[in-house]
Amino acid sequence: MVGIVVVAHSRALADAAVALASEMLHGQRVPIEVAAGLDETTFGTDATAIVTAITDADAAADGGVVVLMDLGSAVLSAELALELLDDEVRERVLLCPAPLVEGLVVASVTAAGGASRAEVAAEASGALAGKLAQLGDPVSAPAETGSPADHRAELVGSFTVVNPHGLHARPAAVLAARAREFDAQVQLRNRTTGSGWVPAASLSKLGTLGALPGHQLEIRAQGSQAEQALDELLALGLRGFDESPASARPAAPASVRPPATAPAPFPADLGLAAAPIAASPGLGIGPACPLRAEAAVQLDAATDEGDTDPAAEWRRLTDAVDTAREDIQRVRARAAEQVGEAEAGIFDAHLAMLDDPELLGGAHTRIDGGTAAATAWAASIAEAHDALAALDDEYLRARAADVRAVGDQVLRALAGGPAEVASPEGVLVAADLTPAQAAELDAARVDAVVLAYGSLTAHATILLRALGIPAVVAAGPAVLAIPDGTLVAVDGIRGEVLVDPDTEVQRALRERAEALADQDREARALTNQPAATLNGVPVSVAANIGSVADALAAAERGADLAGLVRTEFLFLDRDSAPDVAEQERSYREIAAALHGRRITLRTLDVGGDKPLSYLPAPAEANPFLGLRGIRLALARPELLAEQLLAIVRVAHDTPVDLMFPMVSTLDELLSARRMLTEAIEAADAGDPPELRVGIMVEVPATALKAAVFAPHVDFFSIGTNDLTQYTLAAERGNDNVAALGDPLDPGVLRLIDAVCRAAGGGAGPLVAVCGELAADELAVPLLLGLGVRELSVNPRAVPGVKQAVRAVDLPKAVELAARALQAESATAVRALLTQFTG
Ligand code: PEP
Ligand code: MG
Repeated sequence: MVGIVVVAHSRALADAAVALASEMLHGQRVPIEVAAGLDETTFGTDATAIVTAITDADAAADGGVVVLMDLGSAVLSAELALELLDDEVRERVLLCPAPLVEGLVVASVTAAGGASRAEVAAEASGALAGKLAQLGDPVSAPAETGSPADHRAELVGSFTVVNPHGLHARPAAVLAARAREFDAQVQLRNRTTGSGWVPAASLSKLGTLGALPGHQLEIRAQGSQAEQALDELLALGLRGFDESPASARPAAPASVRPPATAPAPFPADLGLAAAPIAASPGLGIGPACPLRAEAAVQLDAATDEGDTDPAAEWRRLTDAVDTAREDIQRVRARAAEQVGEAEAGIFDAHLAMLDDPELLGGAHTRIDGGTAAATAWAASIAEAHDALAALDDEYLRARAADVRAVGDQVLRALAGGPAEVASPEGVLVAADLTPAQAAELDAARVDAVVLAYGSLTAHATILLRALGIPAVVAAGPAVLAIPDGTLVAVDGIRGEVLVDPDTEVQRALRERAEALADQDREARALTNQPAATLNGVPVSVAANIGSVADALAAAERGADLAGLVRTEFLFLDRDSAPDVAEQERSYREIAAALHGRRITLRTLDVGGDKPLSYLPAPAEANPFLGLRGIRLALARPELLAEQLLAIVRVAHDTPVDLMFPMVSTLDELLSARRMLTEAIEAADAGDPPELRVGIMVEVPATALKAAVFAPHVDFFSIGTNDLTQYTLAAERGNDNVAALGDPLDPGVLRLIDAVCRAAGGGAGPLVAVCGELAADELAVPLLLGLGVRELSVNPRAVPGVKQAVRAVDLPKAVELAARALQAESATAVRALLTQFTG
């Protein structure tokens, strides 16, 4: 039998819901566990309590566990609990998006009847059907025509899409999940394109809206919670669906930009004349191999060999969906471990597709009509795929591939195919990769990847970079004609693909590849040593951190300290702020992961582009110029006061630097420092802790006024990401102005120079750089020549940046910096740097 866990904010609510469900069981026993409230009376959810409840339910049941949740953070806590579970238990657990009360009643009765986990979850998810039938369902009304069947109590509102990529998979998944939480039928339409209405709960249908940045979307809601649904979803839309910049921002580091003049590397007879894009740096040479043959799913007799009893076919499909879900969860966990939570979030959209009521509903209807499971599912997938593929926008069109990938995974499970297939070996040549396929590649076996299509910002490309597999994308369909086994050389730095290179070229390439690999090995071997220039000037190479996993990676890569802890990771994607105790716990965890190395805790840098749901703020026309960073913290001092108290407590036991973000006036810094003094008093822990205080320099005015700040700080940390966007007036993450936002622009360099001069060349505060520029090895001599003495970079980059520091001849670097400051453009600066490093 399947066990059930109820996760809710209130223990009384959960107990009452369980009592109600038990009434319906008429004495039958179903293992139901509760993880609700922080205690009998305090509202809240706790991941560790959920882990215990799941473990208990799992022990009492033999068919796995279905978890039902109430609102918001209950879902987040349940997801966290899932991550904390042993792999073996996790595989038997299903988080179910059903409404809590109706879902629990239906789930209990279905479980008592001996149904499988997938059936229990599917039945619970459909638990609103009775109410819909009685009260009317505008979703199944003539939705596409735009005239709802019943206008009684229908509420309508609209918002403008602010997400840089429009309503793409991740924000759409957030919207669909939130829409399902209400007892209301919610629909959306794209007013800008004049689309028809689609159900908000359906991820696949939301994709068909073709909602791009700036488009006006209209929401209508009907039902007992229509008002709450509308309010919440409109607010969510205005906040850009709480999309974190890490996932919203295309991650295309300068080092993988295509060269200005792409060579013509392909033999003419193959006609491979496209302009390939260098997508993931490195060199690889090996025999061409295709993507695993098993990946292409053919709908054949094997997949539909079941009987045509609708109930049995539906069970086959839900079991296959369960298997696919487990596969995706496994890949997600691997991606989170290998490349971080932000990239792994890609798979949440895939998981959401498996719960999509439109996809499942379409298949269910066909099965009820006598169609076999695989054919029914394939038809439902094809419908969703074709609707997305027909869109004008390239980014949204690319999501059709995600639908296809998830659909294929279910078909494979239906056909009884292997869940795990061996990674290809050699140079993988393929039309394109899904994120799941990219995450499953084994970097030890795949020499390089060549894609006919794809782009720098595709999820799969981001994963390839994070895995360190050299790649070239957009090479054109002719690469697909390269016969398997043909030797292919790939230069992921210059964007070259050489088919069947002659022995001389092969030798040169292998030498270059070996030299790069040697350099990498040497860098890794020395990474635990401190770095100093050739002249013996020490330079700290620190890590930028946004999670405990990052901290572990930083320690493993030999970072000298954490130069930037983005504490907002604790505050985003939840519906209330972490309290002092939770913050203290997290900061201590990070310090422990770094074995007591110094940690630079940046106070909350949210607002504007990183909104918080529990801190509602009026929409701003220019969020990057609005109430963000320290401005927001001072406007909501209760948040800052709590954070400072947590930081002070930690600083009593472990070395801590405190850093304020987005400072633009001295008054801001002095106010924040006053609050720090109050926090030290409030901590009441004897002598004040040894706490160094600094500011981020991200605003050009602050760089120019650095001398004003210098007497009040121990260090400056230059955030070149924001400093560049404000200096060049080129919004970060906006593809249209991406080329303008180059941190090597002499305008930005002059501001860095101004900060270094104000800091007194070593006599005053330390100058650090923690923006992406610090990780660009080419720029290291320039930054040191300007006077920077700490570089804080993503953990992977630490060994290479340390090596780059060790190669710097400081007097020559100072001359280089002087020339770069006089250069006319970023391109000219880059040319100087290339020449300098030889
Ligand atoms: C920066 O602006 O350079 C920086 C490091 O801060 P963030 O990227 O977190 O805005
Ligand atoms: Mg910044």
